[in-house]
This record gives sequence, C-alpha cells and structure tokens, in this order.
Amino acid sequence: MRSNISLEEARDILMEKKVQTEAIHVSLMDSLGSILAEDIHSDMNMPPFDKSPLDGYALRGEDTQGASKDRPLTMEVIEFRPAGYVTDKIVEKNQAIRIMTGSKIPEGADTVVKFEDTEFTEHSVTFYQSYPPESNISRKGEDIEIGDRILTKGQEIDAPEIGILATLGKSYVKVYRKPRIAILSTGDELTDIHEPLEDGKIRNSNSYTLAAQIKKIGGKPLMLGVCDDTIETISEKILSAIHWADMIITTGGVSVGDCDLVKEAFQHAGANMLFWRVRMKPGTPIAVAEYGNKLLFGLSGNPAAAYITFEQFVRPVILKQQGKEKTRLMEVEAILENDFRKTSSQNRFVRGKTYYREGKYYIRFPGKHSSGVLSSLSGTNSLFYVPGGEGPFVKGDRVTVQLLDHPEVMQ
Ligand code: AMP
Ligand code: MG
Repeated sequence: MRSNISLEEARDILMEKKVQTEAIHVSLMDSLGSILAEDIHSDMNMPPFDKSPLDGYALRGEDTQGASKDRPLTMEVIEFRPAGYVTDKIVEKNQAIRIMTGSKIPEGADTVVKFEDTEFTEHSVTFYQSYPPESNISRKGEDIEIGDRILTKGQEIDAPEIGILATLGKSYVKVYRKPRIAILSTGDELTDIHEPLEDGKIRNSNSYTLAAQIKKIGGKPLMLGVCDDTIETISEKILSAIHWADMIITTGGVSVGDCDLVKEAFQHAGANMLFWRVRMKPGTPIAVAEYGNKLLFGLSGNPAAAYITFEQFVRPVILKQQGKEKTRLMEVEAILENDFRKTSSQNRFVRGKTYYREGKYYIRFPGKHSSGVLSSLSGTNSLFYVPGGEGPFVKGDRVTVQLLDHPEVMQ
C-alpha cells in the first residue's frame, strides 16, 4: 500500500482503475442525464415527406412564370389540406391546393407560396410575382436522413437528444446504469437523525451530505447507517453491501487514533489497500481499497473533509461508472475578494463562492474553513486551490478555482 502520496498520484491511481459499466434499457424520460450505450441510426427520413414550411398554396412553380403586380395570375384552388391530412388529388397546370405549415406537399406541386403574398377566395388564388420551382419546400430527410448515425455511444442525453429519440420513436433507450453507492458512517459518537441526541454524541450528517452529492451527479446512494468503531462491525457492514453495491464509501476512522480502524476493517473484509493518506488539506487521512473490481473509499469523518475529498476522488469514479468520459471539474482563474494568509506545505482546497461579473470571475470565501466546519460550506459553489508552499494571498490576487457548481452571475 502506498501512503502519504500527492494529489496527482492519488488521481492517477484512481484513473488507471478500470471501472465497470453496465448497459440497460430505460424508458425515454428516465434516460435524461444518462450516457447512451449505443449508437442511434435513423431508420427514417425526417421529415418523412416533402413538407410545407409555411401556410399557403402548393402549386407548380412554372405556372407562376410571367406573373407580376401589373399582370396578376389567378389559379383554381382544388382543395384544402391542413397538416396531418394527405390528399390523393394531383396538382395540374394552373391549379393550387391550400396547405398549412407541416402539410405534405401534394403530388404535382413543387412550390409553396405564402398567403401573405396572394389574394384568395375559397376557390381561387391570385399571384403577383413568379416563383422558381422548388421554392419553400422542406425536403424529405432535410433534418435527419435514413441511415444517419444521429446520436453516438458515449453522448449525454439532454433535452435535444430526448427530442431526437422521440422523433425516431424510441420509447426505450440503452444507457449506462447509474451506479449504486453504499454509504457507511463509522463512529461510536454517531446518532442517526431520527434518534434522540445524548450527551457526547453528534448526529450523522456525512451520510446525508454524501448521498446528496452522489444524487447530484447521477449515482444512486444507499445508506448503511452508522456503525461502531470496531473492525468486525465495519467489515461486516462492508461485506453485507459489497455484492450489490458498485462502490462503498465510509466516513470516519481513517486517521491515526486508537479508534481509527477502517483501514484494518477494509483488509479484514478481504479488500486490498491501494493507498492511505494524501498530502492535501482537508482530508489527508483518506484510505482507498479495492475489493475485486469495486472501490472502497474511506473518507475522513470531518464533514468538510469528506465533502471535499468526495469531489476530488470519488466524483470522477462515479461519473465513469455511468459511462461519462469527461470527469474533471472546470477550473477558472478568479480574483480573490479577501485575503488568505494561511500558508502550509500541503496543497489546500478552500471553500468559496465564485461569481461572474463583466467578463471576470471573483471568489469570496467564508471566515471558517476548518475541516470540521460544515455550516460555512453552505452557499459555496467552488474550491480555491492553494498549492503547497504558496501564499500568503491577498485581495486582488489571481487564483485557480475549481467550480463544483455553476458560478453565479452578479448583477
Ligand atoms: P474521524 O474521522 O473519525 O476522526 O472523525 C473526525 C470528526 O468528524 C470527529 O469530530 C467526528 O465526530 C466527526 N464525524 C465523524 N463521522 C461523522 C458523521 N457521519 N457526521 C458528522 N460528523 C462526523
Ligand atoms: Mg472517529
């Protein structure tokens, strides 16, 4: 097992791990936000027929040749066909059919003239200019052609993709399954949220924060509750979940105290340790192990440390389990709004709120930022990165910021 490794080494170890994905069929609306596990080829043309892009008259363009303001030309209107209704009539010389946007172009016609450019009665229509044949026709296959690979395996399904799949009549779609992530909070001091709080105890918040983080990125969190700091109970809980979960995250018990037994519990359960302790703040005492091809993450119990290490190390794996390739958080250069004078030899992530104004990003961070403080994470959307050995930083300095969420636009 490697220990005291750098952030980059930890990321590399995790990125090299082959992540299991599984393709399943889900209903169209349940596929929103998922990654396609198949190429989608069109088995039809869209539009499936030549159609009208406007409300007007379908006719033969050549019949309008010679028409002008001074020499209007009148034709017979032989039918009215709204969108959705086809006609078996054929447009002959000097005839027109009144049609609506989306109507199929009747046989014989090759041009559509919009109402606004004509004068009409129920049975006749008059034109004041000539139209070249093929004017105003939405061609069959203009949007999607039969045989086109219209969506690609690996592509994320967003609203336009839902619309394309609907166009093609796909009520079920093959996507990568969302991973099931088991969460276990370890610590004798923990009480679950529906229990009365006794002296010396605190509520288990980590399981809930992590479940929310998992949900936000498309995973399915499953809570294993809280458990005592003993190797046996922790490893029992792990073994109870390892067969159905795609990953297990624990919090607490990974430091160097007498009751920090998660590492031993991972090994007792039969997992192989990959690394323990990463040179970063907060969250140094992270332990990562592998059970078969499943990863076990032991995060610090400190709420902000668990939150931040999840974003750094766990998030990319959960995204890969869903078939997502792009797992890096967006980084921007931002201007500090307050001083950050603390220096340390370790890389540090400082929570903050980044906002955007007039072409620039700015970051403001709260006064409390220790790893045990959860409350000041509220309202933040980003992490300001302080490389080990650098600083102090002062207001106006430019720093690198990881965006955990979209920045706000400051009015
Ligand atoms: P540990 O990582 O076990 O040393 O815990 C570090 C700190 O985090 C201690 O103050 C714990 O009481 C606290 N803590 C541990 N687990 C949780 C949890 N599930 N929810 C909230 N705080 C926790
Ligand atoms: Mg503990």
